[in-house]
Amino acid sequence: MDNHHHCQHDHPENQAEYTGLTVNSGVAQPPSVNPYLRRHRRQPMPSASELVEGILRGDVTMLSRAVTLVESLSSDHQAVAQEVIEKCLPHSGNSRRIGITGVPGAGKSTSIDVFGLHVLKEGGKLAVLAIDPSSERTKGSILGDKTRMERLSIHPNAFIRPSPSAGSLGGVARKTRETIVLCEAAGYNNIFVETVGVGQSETAVHSMVDFFLLLQLAGTGDELQGIKRGIMEMADGIVINKADGENINRAQLAQAQFRSALHLFPPTESGWQPEVLTYSGYYELGIPEVWDMIDRYFAHVKANGYFEVRRSRQARYWMYETIDEQLRRHFYDDPVIAPMLAEKEERVLANRLSSFMAARQMLDTYFGRGEK
Ligand code: GDP
Repeated sequence: MDNHHHCQHDHPENQAEYTGLTVNSGVAQPPSVNPYLRRHRRQPMPSASELVEGILRGDVTMLSRAVTLVESLSSDHQAVAQEVIEKCLPHSGNSRRIGITGVPGAGKSTSIDVFGLHVLKEGGKLAVLAIDPSSERTKGSILGDKTRMERLSIHPNAFIRPSPSAGSLGGVARKTRETIVLCEAAGYNNIFVETVGVGQSETAVHSMVDFFLLLQLAGTGDELQGIKRGIMEMADGIVINKADGENINRAQLAQAQFRSALHLFPPTESGWQPEVLTYSGYYELGIPEVWDMIDRYFAHVKANGYFEVRRSRQARYWMYETIDEQLRRHFYDDPVIAPMLAEKEERVLANRLSSFMAARQMLDTYFGRGEK
């Protein structure tokens, strides 16, 4: 304050030649930050064992923090995350993992909200995770957004987490798969993994769930068009949403079409015949029936052993996926390779270098560095 006064006296415009002009000190301003607002200060990162202990207690804050580490690109965070996953693994596996896919507008959020509430009536806990390949580009996830599942998001036994947003589909999917482990260790005995039915992400989700549910819409009469055969083949159940009001007949027609289409497929390895049901997520019609189908599936595959077979194959799949992903990342993040890429790419585009030669040169550089 003293200093302030001093400055004011010294102000050149307060000197004699500037008569009629005085510079006064301003009115004291309140501090710009509300003193009652707690500054957002990062708490120190809990250790791996603190995180594990919290997760096993079912502490949602600790679970969220661990998931954030799983999603982090920092290698320090990854190291802690891997330790947490390792320690949670023995406590994981005890859940029903259900994949849910459908084109945008098919009613995924609406349906997950009602399916979720339905399954929570049995007790237990539900985690809703998402794999959204587009979030990489849009830098914002469209899936797993809490506001889309209004009732579930405020349910004390539901944990909703949006899609990890950075990296390749493989990377995003691996993080979701690791998050499943953490959620299971935290006592979530139902896991929903949601994805937009528009591409490769279904395969990723299919490879981490026990049951794959395909949401469909009836409408135009050519329902079967535009649905990739591969996606239909992955489905353990097809449900036709919005079977309400004037849409009921069309939904039933679509149901018949899907049923006959499914009969053309070879029998599934699980011995389970995928079912086709109609329901309305919005009007909550047919929800218990969909859930009964899922229950029947689990009873079936647990009795014939396919449940375990599918899970161990998935474990093998993720072993290779993780290796592939980390090798790629290590290559592309290499400080020497990264700048080389642009230059080689340009020369390949200009036909001045063959693709094979460009790849060869960079791989030689990469492996040459590795040996040193
Ligand atoms: P998402 O993009 O797959 O998550 O789809 P939403 O759940 O956001 O649903 C898309 C639109 O369809 C929304 O306007 C919903 O209100 C509507 N909708 C969802 N389920 C039903 C249903 O069962 N019947 C009807 N009539 N509309 C529905």
